[in-house]
Amino acid sequence: MPVSDQETVALGRCPRYHPQEVRFGLQQILEPFGGIDALIRPGQKVLLKPNLLSAASPAEAVTTHPLILRVMTELIHERGGKVFIGDSPGNDSQEKAHHICGIQEVIEQTGAEALDFSNTIHKQVQGYREWNIPLAADLDQVDMVINMAKLKTHSLTGLTAAVKNIYGCVPGKNKVRFHFEYPLPGDFSRLLLDVYYAVKPAFSIIDAVIAMEGTGPRRGNPRRVGLLMASPNALALDNVAANVVGFRSDQVTTLAAAGELNLPGSVFSAISVRGVKLEKCRLTDFDKGPVSNGRLSRLIALLPFARIRNLFAGRRPYPRVNKDLCSGCGVCYETCPAQVIDFTGSIPDIDLDGCIRCYCCQEFCARGAIELNNTKRFFLL
Ligand code: SF4
Ligand code: SF4
Repeated sequence: MPVSDQETVALGRCPRYHPQEVRFGLQQILEPFGGIDALIRPGQKVLLKPNLLSAASPAEAVTTHPLILRVMTELIHERGGKVFIGDSPGNDSQEKAHHICGIQEVIEQTGAEALDFSNTIHKQVQGYREWNIPLAADLDQVDMVINMAKLKTHSLTGLTAAVKNIYGCVPGKNKVRFHFEYPLPGDFSRLLLDVYYAVKPAFSIIDAVIAMEGTGPRRGNPRRVGLLMASPNALALDNVAANVVGFRSDQVTTLAAAGELNLPGSVFSAISVRGVKLEKCRLTDFDKGPVSNGRLSRLIALLPFARIRNLFAGRRPYPRVNKDLCSGCGVCYETCPAQVIDFTGSIPDIDLDGCIRCYCCQEFCARGAIELNNTKRFFLL
């Protein structure tokens, strides 16, 4: 790309999911970086990596809207590139997610190809530590990755947008395993940064036409923001997205973790915003969700010594099952990385003493029957 400034973010208006408005919005956010011609070379194989957290209809605002993917695919094909679409959903099969999220239709309409994210390769990275990260083997088939994220609140990290979206490049159950190995928001966020730098998407776009507020990332409420956002730097992009919906950078744990290392994009004041003026986009009444006020616990979670962190870990809320909403499907039991959910009765029973508060159960409960509750106790020693 001609733009070397990794701390530039573009904002474009897109009031609704209408083909012409999406096309105009995408062109508007690509323009400061030289447009689609600067991003794509003819013949390039391009992976569009959407957020396909679970098999949810586009109206629920859980996943990247298929129209954004369709128009981006058309722009790349018009330029002579070849589009692939791939993600590893958290719990559902890729095939089921493609059908219900509207991706299958995009594939059939545009001639894009689905990439299979079920096979694993290991890539050595030197991030917070040197280690081998499991990634989808099919990433090796493409020349570049374009990150197509959705803006949503998130119980563990505050906000999920461009950096966290790349976590879907970790195949299947590895994602659940990492939740168990890195239960605290700060540790998990450092892992997310390592995955992001291992995949290194060339460009990131956030679908914030309809975002999710409240109890995200699965059961929050759709909220019209009317924006598309883009940057070569996902950290800068997330920083601006956070600002638009009223989060401080330190309330988003991936940004706080990046700030520890002074990574490009982690300092909000250093970011240049192009396109729509930021002051005209800011929302003052966006519902930041049940853990949004936990600034102290987020900062504590970033402390370097686990022993000190654990002293304060009890400040994070606990999950509880709302028996009136629970259908007894067992998904929470299957996805709990700590295996502390007993399902011998018709309704799950959570052993809070063993719960690591990763909130996977809340994330994958399609009924919204897992609620987060602050009241169990103040300290967990
Ligand atoms: S709490 Fe949710 S995921 Fe768990 S059994 Fe009930 S409905 Fe299913
Ligand atoms: S009960 Fe829920 S929050 Fe607790 S460890 Fe299991 S999945 Fe995570």
